Amino acid sequence: MDKRIIYYNNFASHLLNAYNPNMLYPDLPHRWSDADWRALVDMAASFGYTVLEFWLVPRLFCREGLESEVGREFARQMNVVIERAAGHGLRVELIAGLATTGGDWRTLCPNIPEEWQEIQYLWDQWSRRLPELGIVGIFPGDPGACSRNGCTAETYIDRSVDIAHIVVRNLPGAQIEFHTWGPPFFGWGNLYEPPDSHGEFRQEHQHTAWTFDKARADRSMTHLLRRLLDFPEGTAVAINLGFNPDGNPTGEQDARPWAREIAKTNPILTWDFSLTEGENAIYPHYRFQRLFRRRQEELAAAPYSGGICFTMTPLLNQLSLYEAAWSFRDPSADHRAVQVDDGRRAVARRFFGELFGPQGETLAEYMPLFEIVPDWGHYAQVHHTRGEYHAEMQALVSLLQDLRGQERTTPFHPDVETYRRELLFFAQLFADLSGPNPDWTALRRRYWERVYAIYDRLPQHVDPRPKRATDSLIAFFQRPVFRGEGAGDGASAR
Ligand SMILES: [Zn+2]
Repeated sequence: MDKRIIYYNNFASHLLNAYNPNMLYPDLPHRWSDADWRALVDMAASFGYTVLEFWLVPRLFCREGLESEVGREFARQMNVVIERAAGHGLRVELIAGLATTGGDWRTLCPNIPEEWQEIQYLWDQWSRRLPELGIVGIFPGDPGACSRNGCTAETYIDRSVDIAHIVVRNLPGAQIEFHTWGPPFFGWGNLYEPPDSHGEFRQEHQHTAWTFDKARADRSMTHLLRRLLDFPEGTAVAINLGFNPDGNPTGEQDARPWAREIAKTNPILTWDFSLTEGENAIYPHYRFQRLFRRRQEELAAAPYSGGICFTMTPLLNQLSLYEAAWSFRDPSADHRAVQVDDGRRAVARRFFGELFGPQGETLAEYMPLFEIVPDWGHYAQVHHTRGEYHAEMQALVSLLQDLRGQERTTPFHPDVETYRRELLFFAQLFADLSGPNPDWTALRRRYWERVYAIYDRLPQHVDPRPKRATDSLIAFFQRPVFRGEGAGDGASAR
């Protein structure tokens, strides 16, 4: 199988923000025009991606999604994306949870005949709506999954085989990608659902879907190996190095032996979600040490054929997307922000040089400063005193101001000038957060209004993460986290 370097833009309703397309609420801001999408596709192609992936979110994966204006418009615009991608030789991939549907994220039960009928109907209808899809991914959950009526990970596997055949009957040119996400198979048989449950999403029980049990993992992976031949020809399997949210191959959660076994008959790839930006921690990211190390670990582990580069902020974290594509194209490329010895430019310097010319390359040295907040998949360390950090951020503010007018023309979305101004916003914010006597309330409001204000216009969402993420970013700077500040200083005393 050709290497899949997958640009995965997750624009689900709990990940809305100013830097993500709003595909769900026509009356709210951050809608993208077809021209926006085409420019995005052109940029992704220029970075070296070979696949564009999107999640058909539960809000659309339901009758209402099929029959509403927002659902029809979604399908129309995704077909525009598919056409543009094809012009660059890229394929588009849809992923959807096997059975999680509707704006309230309810999971239907394949062991209830009427609900199984409905699941098949939704897959059948949606695969007809997007006739030129290149790849269709079947996902266990997160959110959602079923433990009712005897459902287990084996149920998920067996019913995915059935769905895969419905999909390829409608889309003979498409390939199936089967997902093992979770410990493995997120939530199937291990999600706690109260006795009165009808499959409703309940935030307070979602963590149980990550409960690892070696016997369950062995049993379900053995079952998958038995069923692989029943999937359509060419089905790929997405399996991370480890059966945990960070994909780390630790102890009993080491998935590498299973990956090697699957690779004997089917192409494998990773779906390592936490490498680039986690979820809801919105600022300019620089998490490339772990990203490139993970690529090296994959090379050593099994014959992987690529994987995803996740973003929920395509209008802000273009550098992450560029680095992530390069991590697959050249896993030995240099992720550091400095000039490398043999004269090759490190990836970040090349990125900024293409945008702003030689002076812009210096930006690469400042970008790691943003990455000081511990987060999913990111084990941050702070090496500066507060005063040093503040001074560096002020220097970044000056550099970004100096770069005004030096933008070059390159496939980029949005335009390079807008990107420069966004970096300037965050540099100023982080400078103010680390400066003397911050006005925390005003800074919190400044961040919220720039990033998450769309939630002020939505009814109470099922997922509280945007507010929590904002609070924790502000709270991070309020704590004694910098060098020389005592408590919490352990990792930074160097
Ligand atoms: Zn069930």
